[in-house]
Amino acid sequence: MLLQQTRVAQALPYYTRILERYPNLRALADSRPSELLKLWQGAGYYARASRLRAAARAIRKEHGGRFPRAVEQLERLPGIGPYTARAIASLAFRAPVLALEANGVRVAARLTGDRGDPAQAKVRARLGAWLAKELPVDAPGEFNEAVMELGETVCLPRSPRCPECPVSLVCSAFRTLADPGSLPRRTPRRPKPHEVAAIAAVHRGPRWLMQQRTEPGLLRGLWEFPGGKQAPGESLPDAARRELEEETGLRVGSLEHVGVIRHSYSHFSVELHLFRAEPRGKYRVTSPARWVTAEEIRRLPLPRATEKALLLLGVGSPEEAQPGQTR
Ligand code: SF4
Repeated sequence: MLLQQTRVAQALPYYTRILERYPNLRALADSRPSELLKLWQGAGYYARASRLRAAARAIRKEHGGRFPRAVEQLERLPGIGPYTARAIASLAFRAPVLALEANGVRVAARLTGDRGDPAQAKVRARLGAWLAKELPVDAPGEFNEAVMELGETVCLPRSPRCPECPVSLVCSAFRTLADPGSLPRRTPRRPKPHEVAAIAAVHRGPRWLMQQRTEPGLLRGLWEFPGGKQAPGESLPDAARRELEEETGLRVGSLEHVGVIRHSYSHFSVELHLFRAEPRGKYRVTSPARWVTAEEIRRLPLPRATEKALLLLGVGSPEEAQPGQTR
């Protein structure tokens, strides 16, 4: 599940850390969500962490603690879709099924010279059917892994390394096209939406006001400074004040602009204007916000943007930074 959105080299430290802390399914099923999120911090796509835990609990409840082997059973587990189910079934249990992901689609389109657009389900189905015919029943995992590796290391998206390719002699794109990398046909990507937001780092002496994201979505369960999107015609300090008051009921005195954090998620990019402030009037805030020391902040699961904000504020230490993607 770590590998669903993360490359192997980046995922490995997380894999090791999570396995050390939760060496078996029971330990993972009994894990505290916030502790697992903390171990996941920096890997991005945080919903995977809660689905991993939910899958462990489902395996214990519905399968007596034994990992299911059939694709249909695997697909019913949280966080496991058609591709992951087939990858697990073929790699771990030698089930004769094809696990088709982006690398396989690209390799198959080039090997067959298919000019269809893989964004279309019927084109992906055609390429999958062709690859499935080649799948050896006695080594399905090796086959799936070989196709992925070929796409990952040789048949690269823009510049395939055809002279080094072990299957170039049977590759239609290599034999017939001046640029084999022109397949598969690519749909031009729409530019990612860009958002501008303001966040307020409010402190009372050594304690900072942080809140936990509770709504379903990208960063659920992680802790961050209050803030949100700038409304049309609104100044950034006004946006910071409004969001702070709406979210926590707190008002602040003057705002100091500390810096800008630029961050990219899978579907949008964001420019976060960070303000430092002290509270004016009452200190009571609505849950789930809390006043926490720098020491306590380090123990909370944080999104990467909040880690960057803490560095700008001089709170938290660089050695806390985790390996992994900037997401
Ligand atoms: Fe890809 Fe080139 Fe190999 Fe064909 S010959 S599969 S285009 S790397």
